Amino acid sequence: MGLLQLFSKKTFPHGIHPPEYKDETSRKKTIRLAFAPEIVLPLSQHIGAPAIPIVHKGQFVERGELIAEPAENALSVPIHASVSGTVKDIELMPSAKGPKVKSIIITTSPSSPQIPLTGGPQDYLSMDSTQIISAVKETGLVGLGGAGFPSYAKMMVPKERNIHTVVINGCECEPFLTTDHRVMLEKVDAMMTGINIAIKAVNADKAIIGIENNKREVMDVIRDRLPDDNLISVEAVETKYPQGAEKMLVKSLLGVEIPSRGLPSEIGLAIFNVATMAEMGSLLPNRQGLIERIITVTGDELERPGNYIVPIGTPLKYILDFAGFTGAEAELILGGPMMGLPVSSLETPVTKGTGAVLVLDKRATKRDDIQPCIKCSMCLQACPINLNPSELGQLAAKRRYDVMEKDYHLNDCFECGCCSYVCPSNIPLVQYFRIAKALNRERHIQNG
Ligand code: SF4
Ligand code: SF4
Repeated sequence: MGLLQLFSKKTFPHGIHPPEYKDETSRKKTIRLAFAPEIVLPLSQHIGAPAIPIVHKGQFVERGELIAEPAENALSVPIHASVSGTVKDIELMPSAKGPKVKSIIITTSPSSPQIPLTGGPQDYLSMDSTQIISAVKETGLVGLGGAGFPSYAKMMVPKERNIHTVVINGCECEPFLTTDHRVMLEKVDAMMTGINIAIKAVNADKAIIGIENNKREVMDVIRDRLPDDNLISVEAVETKYPQGAEKMLVKSLLGVEIPSRGLPSEIGLAIFNVATMAEMGSLLPNRQGLIERIITVTGDELERPGNYIVPIGTPLKYILDFAGFTGAEAELILGGPMMGLPVSSLETPVTKGTGAVLVLDKRATKRDDIQPCIKCSMCLQACPINLNPSELGQLAAKRRYDVMEKDYHLNDCFECGCCSYVCPSNIPLVQYFRIAKALNRERHIQNG
């Protein structure tokens, strides 16, 4: 990477610079995790309607076999068995989302093979956009950056919109997370194939990969693999949180804004994460379903932190045992420390959207007492979308949730947590905003 790229000032206003804590895992090669004795595959791992099981209790299934079909006439994706084994049950199980969700439980066969079932080769170059989108749906692929939005649906662009650029998000701006870092180093060819598939699916003119300028080694590897036709380019952006948020990345790379509550397609963009592209590039040409993913396992009191290739459905307990968790008490977070979700049950399985398991010593996560707002305006200076977190926080304290939504753009808040991070009074602003949004949603449902 050239010096100019290294000091890239392509950026967005505001944001924060938390410590990175990435060195422990970013330099280690990805390791394949052994199969857990029991795998739990929730039918709802994606945004949209749950998949419909097509297997029954006692049935033997092969690794890679389709076990749940997408719900008809709805946003939905299929689910494939991540191990060979016997369906033990289909019942409610703990999930990362909080409430229990219906899941297919598979008792792993001791002879489960690494190589999964596939439908055989298919040449995306000879397929049109509709055929590609349908083939992407069959893989069960969703956004692996955490949102879980079905990838095929992202490619279904309304006829009146014209996508000129595919933006590939390689920022991974949250502290501790290094999954995308390793994907870009270890699966660069599959990622390039995935990007070409995405360009063809949305009929774009080009793709730009945006990478934070702290990933110098990654930039060099990708530069070496860029095709000669200039269809794909790579750009460094400033290392800053939340650079990986779609709105921020687009602002940094292209200097334009995705409209408030609007979609990237409204300004001619389709945005995908690097890990999603790498999976698309390896699954679609083989007609294979998504059965595993790379996750970062890191934090306090782990003997073997690292990036692991984990079968979807592996319970957290198995992963932590493998990574050598030695602590007695810890807070478990699925995702990064800024936007991840705390989980209480070790039975919770890894799903398609799980990018990391973060183990934090409970003492480190204990917050100091909340103090009154001192009107320092640090939260205003941190908010990347120019909201007024201080005022929103005061309204939340008075339970004026309707005013927060109507007059203070609460729904534009994407819960990045920058405001809470900088607040010297320890006011848990982002938690207030999450609660306010949930209560507003409930109110709207009740009012029809
Ligand atoms: S959590 Fe919401 S209000 Fe706070 S900084 Fe992020 S976008 Fe702004
Ligand atoms: S950062 Fe905290 S103390 Fe400062 S204005 Fe915002 S809410 Fe108030």
